[in-house]
Amino acid sequence: MDLYRLTIHDLHEELREGRVTSNQITESVFDRIAEVDGRVRAYLTLTKEAALEAAARSDERYRRGDFLGPLDGIPIALKDIFLTEGIRTTCASKVLENFIPPYDGTPVVRLKEAGAVITGKLNMDEFAMGSSNENSGFFPTHNPWNTQYVPGGSSGGSAASVAAGEAIGALGTDTGGSIRQPASHCGVVGMKPTYGRVSRYGIIAFASSLDQVGPLARTVTDCSILLRTIAGHDPADSTSAEVPVPDYPSLLDGKVEGMKVGLPEEYFSEGLDPEVERLVREAAHALERRGMKMVPVSLPSSRYAVATYYIIAPAEASSNLARYDGVRYGVRVPDAESLMEMYKRSRSRGFGAEVQRRIMLGTFALSAGYYDAYYGKAQKIRTLIRREMDEAFSKVDVLLAPTAPTAAFPIGEKMDDPLQMYMSDVYTIPVNIAGVAAISVPCGITPDGLPVGVQLISPPFGEEVLLNVAFAYEQERGTFPNCPL
Ligand code: GLN
Repeated sequence: MDLYRLTIHDLHEELREGRVTSNQITESVFDRIAEVDGRVRAYLTLTKEAALEAAARSDERYRRGDFLGPLDGIPIALKDIFLTEGIRTTCASKVLENFIPPYDGTPVVRLKEAGAVITGKLNMDEFAMGSSNENSGFFPTHNPWNTQYVPGGSSGGSAASVAAGEAIGALGTDTGGSIRQPASHCGVVGMKPTYGRVSRYGIIAFASSLDQVGPLARTVTDCSILLRTIAGHDPADSTSAEVPVPDYPSLLDGKVEGMKVGLPEEYFSEGLDPEVERLVREAAHALERRGMKMVPVSLPSSRYAVATYYIIAPAEASSNLARYDGVRYGVRVPDAESLMEMYKRSRSRGFGAEVQRRIMLGTFALSAGYYDAYYGKAQKIRTLIRREMDEAFSKVDVLLAPTAPTAAFPIGEKMDDPLQMYMSDVYTIPVNIAGVAAISVPCGITPDGLPVGVQLISPPFGEEVLLNVAFAYEQERGTFPNCPL
């Protein structure tokens, strides 16, 4: 039995029954990493020694019969945007190449308290800006279904590691689609919870009004286990909501009969690959067979979502990234003659091209005389997008749409065309703008052998409904194949 291929749920069962040890599972995952990561390149940093120590402690707890819960002893990997005490955290940027944080981010603390075994830090687009992992300051990650293709981004290392069996589950972040789009491209489940559902304390900030932490795993059940562990209020993050956390895994019963699914017409229009559309519509039919009713809805302001995002996200990023000034963290050029020259040259050397583009766009959008025309106006459209979603949710329980307009694309294809790259997130961005929750579940494989995801969207703090509809779909779909790697 290849332990690295099993789910969190099944491995926990095996551990509880005493049929395997966390040591065996962890060794199996690290053997798999040694076998395939040269081709996938999902990891930036491996923490094998600490992982084996954590596994030994977990095995001791299982022996005594006082394990900590379903994540105890399970190998989980982290996007390199989560601060990890004593472990290099780069955000895939040269600016932070040698940064070793003095503390763990809250989601990391919660995983450790639940007994999870942290395997290492995963590659991503630099500062989470990108949709393909090609913007990593170090090297691109490859899609385990076909290593000539991108894994998606920015949590591309997270999605690829789970798909390839290099971790049992992973955490990512999603500002405009960065969990769901790579999950779709790699054939795994990825969830962006409601804004405020998970603490962002100790997560490197990109766009603070949009960023949210979420799980990637092989099944909806596994995502529900991870979310249950990391969700909830944190006094250290004032944007984390004081809303009770339901016991998501125990609420999955697959009963969705009579519930309504909205199909937004704007998400099934020009630009959507016909094969992706076919697979996503098949997923809708699967839910119909479970007794759900399909209702056409319209979200007309969605067409402005990408433009709105590319004002708001760069504006917030330009402000958040001001801290990388060569004084407190990261790269500093040694021979500057003035403070201004030191700032300029350190930042030019440390940041990659896309990050510099975003800083310039954001600084421009926020500058005196332009603020109302750009940022102010984007905020007004944001309100419209949010209201239209609210209105749709007064008629339906969830929305169903493609996660991305295409399957994964070949490495290099979109690097010279940022606008093309930005359009990868056309169906995911409105969710972040509205602050609602969404999940991507694999729904099929194209004739080229690449996976495709269907996206389900729920009202704020509707995660239990969202997960249950996703669970019902997964039951109806049946087991999804492993990547051929
Ligand atoms: N691809 C989008 C961007 O480049 C979204 C990234 C994200 O969600 N972090 O900004």
